[in-house]
Amino acid sequence: GSSQSVGLIVGVTGIVGSSLAEILPLPGTPGGPWKVYGVARRPCPSWLSNHPIEYIQCDVSDAGDTIAKLSPLTDITHIFYVSWIGSEDCQINATMLQNIFNAVTPNAPNLKHICLQTGIKHYFGLFETDTKTEPHDSPFTEDLPRLNQPNFYHNLEDILYEETAKKGLTWSVHRPALVFGFSPCSLMNILGTLSVYAVICKHDNKPLVYPGTEASWNCYADAVDAELIAEHQIWAAVDPMAKNGAFNCNNGDVFKWKHMWKALAEKFELEMVGYEEGKEQVSMEEMMKDKGPVWDEIVRENQLVPTKLEEVGAWWFADIAFASQNLLSSMNKNKEHGFVGFRNSIKSFTSCIDKMKAYRIIP
Ligand code: NDP
Repeated sequence: GSSQSVGLIVGVTGIVGSSLAEILPLPGTPGGPWKVYGVARRPCPSWLSNHPIEYIQCDVSDAGDTIAKLSPLTDITHIFYVSWIGSEDCQINATMLQNIFNAVTPNAPNLKHICLQTGIKHYFGLFETDTKTEPHDSPFTEDLPRLNQPNFYHNLEDILYEETAKKGLTWSVHRPALVFGFSPCSLMNILGTLSVYAVICKHDNKPLVYPGTEASWNCYADAVDAELIAEHQIWAAVDPMAKNGAFNCNNGDVFKWKHMWKALAEKFELEMVGYEEGKEQVSMEEMMKDKGPVWDEIVRENQLVPTKLEEVGAWWFADIAFASQNLLSSMNKNKEHGFVGFRNSIKSFTSCIDKMKAYRIIP
């Protein structure tokens, strides 16, 4: 074909992978026209099947499967690595990225650039860690040193540095804030989780109760639209100013959950109950543990894309988000290097919900 750029999206059904799959093939996308390969383990979901990408089912934690499926793709020019295994285990996450390099670099002579997505856990540590290291103070900047504790992001970066140096390739590391997106195949989709919660509240005729802490209700927070992360990665793939650096990625504004909660209640036409003085955090994981059959019924009655509650409701993740504060990241380095993309977080919040409705993931 006439494509000048050929992208491999690893994690194509994920929260950012699916936005890359939408945007990369568009005619106006920088660096294009793009031919696109997309990798995930499960079969291609219906909501992704209209996009002009070549879908490849492959388990990249399996070296043999990765060689078999990816080494024939000799025209790859760019890799967009937007995946993780769903556990913070350093070894298995590292193996996944290493397997990609082992399969692609020796066989794709035109390979130029690798975008690696990590996140702001780079600055405050993993969720599952026992190590008692002080997190960095926010707003986080890219030049802060690594925390002195194991983090699979360090392993991924080290593989990236070593493999790109060997072949003289360029790289970029992307550190998004909390992601606002629509994918039902994501392990950490906060808006999917909250929308499912709202839909179940509506079904049960209950108000939308805020389960989080007082601090999380009142503090400034930031987030990033999955489409903006896709634009960020495409910028890094084509712009010389973005080469060989790490960049934070957020919408460029701040919000408070108390305002988002109001927007969520309005969106689903629910009465809302905000944080109430003296109330302790209620675990969503606990609250939702028996709701599987209710969700099954909602899916059936509304003829939604078939999903299980445990796939679309990351209650553990909402529990972390609603106990968090002081996680703002700085976009100054981005602006200094020419990336001036932004989103209005409240619009991004509602447009992601509209998209989930349009794709029949929620009623
Ligand atoms: P998601 O959970 O949204 O998506 C993961 C993707 O990878 C899916 O397409 C999944 O499909 C695929 N995948 C998982 N394991 C394999 C495998 N063994 N072989 C092939 N494909 C696989 O990912 P995120 O975008 O959330 O996560 C990427 C990075 O972004 C992580 O480091 C995360 O910590 C970070 N991040 C995420 C945030 C968020 O709010 N989600 C916030 C900030 C950072 P399948 O299961 O079918 O294989």
